[in-house]
Amino acid sequence: MTNINNTKHQVVIVGGGAAGLELATRLGRKLGKNNLAEITLIDATTTHIWKPLLHEVAAGTLDESEQVEYLAQAHRSHFRFRLGKMEGLNRPSKEIYVSPTFNDKGEELIPGRTFAYDTLVMSVGSVSNTFNIKGVAEHCLFLDTTTQAFNFQKQLFESYLKKYIGKDSTTVKPLAIAIVGAGATGVELSAQLHEVTNVLAIYGLNEQSNVKLTIIEAATQLLPALPDRLALATQQQLVKLGVDLKLGRRVVEVTPEGIHTHDGEFIEADIKVWAAGIKAADWMKNLDGLETNHINQLLVDTTLKTNDDHIFAMGDCAACVWQGHKGNVPPRAQAAHQQAETLYKSICSRLQGGALQPFTYYDYGSLVSLGKYTTVGNLMGNLMGTVSIGGFIAKVVYLSLYKMHQVAIHGYFRTALLTLSNAFRRSAYIKIKMH
Ligand SMILES: Cc1cc2nc3c(=O)[nH]c(=O)nc-3n(C[C@H](O)[C@H](O)[C@H](O)COP(=O)(O)OP(=O)(O)OC[C@H]3O[C@@H](n4cnc5c(N)ncnc54)[C@H](O)[C@@H]3O)c2cc1C
Repeated sequence: MTNINNTKHQVVIVGGGAAGLELATRLGRKLGKNNLAEITLIDATTTHIWKPLLHEVAAGTLDESEQVEYLAQAHRSHFRFRLGKMEGLNRPSKEIYVSPTFNDKGEELIPGRTFAYDTLVMSVGSVSNTFNIKGVAEHCLFLDTTTQAFNFQKQLFESYLKKYIGKDSTTVKPLAIAIVGAGATGVELSAQLHEVTNVLAIYGLNEQSNVKLTIIEAATQLLPALPDRLALATQQQLVKLGVDLKLGRRVVEVTPEGIHTHDGEFIEADIKVWAAGIKAADWMKNLDGLETNHINQLLVDTTLKTNDDHIFAMGDCAACVWQGHKGNVPPRAQAAHQQAETLYKSICSRLQGGALQPFTYYDYGSLVSLGKYTTVGNLMGNLMGTVSIGGFIAKVVYLSLYKMHQVAIHGYFRTALLTLSNAFRRSAYIKIKMH
């Protein structure tokens, strides 16, 4: 398990998200702890929040204790954490380049650095795909990173204050929020925002919730990943909440005032959110000859290996064919979790001279949470036929996906403690953050 320089095998994992943090933790506890390899995790931020919780961050309903400090996790799990944003790769010398880190004032905190690897795992996730539509990048909010989600929450609260405080609420126009994209992210966000703006009203910031929520979607149905029956049930629930659904409308331009659709309609919006599909970041194309697809994802084979024997990719930034299906493994947290599990086994096996594990994606179904209102979804998509579930059972299953992630990171005991303490905190403290 040593390399030619007789030093420990260097495993470098770039991106500590749903996939990368699980892999670093498991490899750290197995190989790092026993001095069999050196595991390094590099991330552009200092803390991890499981990405499916970002809409709760955006709405201000997430408990801060759900954040994981990378440094603390690294210390506990026997890997090294290094802060920085990867920007380049040199395959012949097996090195990656990480750009300098600056503070808010633009002062350089950490200079640019180079890290050597024997095995490199790319798990840098994805970003929203704007499809180069005019005005999207300038005028829309995105939910790709924790910082963006916190900015969203700040803007939501400030817009609310600006709009209503000191004004006659009967004459002020409702705060208009338009979400582009009716996949799980857009739908879940709309329900969270509905809940939050009601709570703001209850806390006395306004007489009543006076927010107009609109979802704009190019497809004629929302939630394309779910069976029609569940998509329809979700649609009915959103309509009941007063969400205006504009289906079959393609966005052609976004301006500071609102959104233009292909059929000539203009939807006025104070806050515009873009959640209409993903791509891997642009710097991923031309990464020293690694093969990519049209949305910059790294092409990987059935063992999650790229066209370089020493470089693997997993999670949203990897394009992995879904065996027996049309297309690739979907960019989902459950895929990231399963891929981290496969690469954990493969890297341990390879270091002992064994073979790489083939990756098989099991779709356990899709679940969509409409906050306190309901959860809907289908289970066991491909294994036993589809079972549609809703309400309390769906909510429990939805939560269990996050619990699996927490168990991979914290172990069973800590996860149980965290779950209990969060339950107490949620009942004792204010339901939303107002700063
Ligand atoms: C609002 C929202 C809701 C979602 N809900 C669900 C859901 O209910 N169910 C589901 O299955 N999936 C859901 N998803 C999708 C799911 O979150 C992703 O598929 C999953 O997080 C992908 O994991 P990952 O490890 O590939 O990337 P991520 O979890 O995104 O992690 C990527 C990591 O890489 C870091 N990084 C990025 N660029 C660099 C760089 N240049 N250098 C260093 N580090 C870098 C980031 O800081 C981040 O920590 C949701 C996504 C969003 C945005």
